[in-house]
Amino acid sequence: MAAGDYYEILGIPKNADEKEIKKAYRNLARKFHPDVCKEPGAEERFKKINEAYSVLSDPQKRAQYDHVGHEGYTSASRGSYAGGGGFGGFSTDFSGFGDIFDFFGGGFGGQRQTGPRAGSDLLMRMTISLEDAVFGTEKEIEVSHTEPCPDCDGTGSETKKRVNCKACGGTGQLRQMSQTLFGQFVRMSTCPECRGTGKVPEKRCSACRGTGVTQERRKVQVRVPAGIDSGMRLRMEGYGEAGDFGAASGDLFIEIMVRPHDRFTRHGDDLEVEAEISPAQAAAGSVISVETIDRKEIELSISPGIQHDTALKIPGEGVRRRGRPGDLLVRVKVRVPRQLTPELRELYEKILEIEGSRAGQEKKGFFSGFMGKK
Ligand SMILES: [Zn+2]
Ligand SMILES: [Zn+2]
Repeated sequence: MAAGDYYEILGIPKNADEKEIKKAYRNLARKFHPDVCKEPGAEERFKKINEAYSVLSDPQKRAQYDHVGHEGYTSASRGSYAGGGGFGGFSTDFSGFGDIFDFFGGGFGGQRQTGPRAGSDLLMRMTISLEDAVFGTEKEIEVSHTEPCPDCDGTGSETKKRVNCKACGGTGQLRQMSQTLFGQFVRMSTCPECRGTGKVPEKRCSACRGTGVTQERRKVQVRVPAGIDSGMRLRMEGYGEAGDFGAASGDLFIEIMVRPHDRFTRHGDDLEVEAEISPAQAAAGSVISVETIDRKEIELSISPGIQHDTALKIPGEGVRRRGRPGDLLVRVKVRVPRQLTPELRELYEKILEIEGSRAGQEKKGFFSGFMGKK
């Protein structure tokens, strides 16, 4: 098995462009194609090359891969099935789960396979909070998929033996002859008895009715890495559908959807929050308190003369990704008071006087001025 990350597998630098990726892939795929290369491990290597290419050639997947790193991308799962037991504290978080469906035909690349086919991949959607996306989290999910039948070890046979199919003589294909004006035609079709595999269970397993698989619901721990964003997919190797009679299982992909937050908006690794200040705070400068996403209060000084909509940066309080975390941007909104206490009114009028501005007329003037704006 080829070690290292996808860039190493393809032997290209991290900043390789599309052309370089394609070129490296073509060369390697030609070299390690199982039909060509008979070295041991070539097939595994070919699979890895295809896997690396399928990610790096897709700009969206590549961005995600670069973002969460090889470890985060390829091993979303830590540990194995959690088995039975209660729902714990997760029950309210399950609203977003459960729409699970077939996603790929299974397996990589355009290889035509005869014999047992690898299981299909599954795609599941998971909705998480912005906090979980920022800090990373572990979630327990329930996945319903097929597994090799434990009674017959996935063979479909009580004797655990599969024998040649009588209907097709073990070829997996049925020949149908037909006589036409133009001569004799032979039509080949997939044998329905053995579904093209050429083998059938020796004695049909009663638990799985000879299919070799059973439908199971499992609780699975998913490690969601910090920095994940909407549309990114986590891959859990081997958690897809069972393969045909002992072939490898497919993978489970979990597509992340980050729920919008009522205070914070996200821009890449940066978070943004609004802070309202009064005209006096804007004009004279002030110190305000800003709550970060992990509910820390941070004092932020507003310099005199700050303008409406200015963004101030608090470094490191954004998305906590490996390496450099993002920043928190505090967008300053100057809010003019809608009502003034007599004391404040007096002070504002004093300002008008110093500025040399004319004072507005109370009551009547307010409405005519307001209507006039429309
Ligand atoms: Zn058959
Ligand atoms: Zn069985």
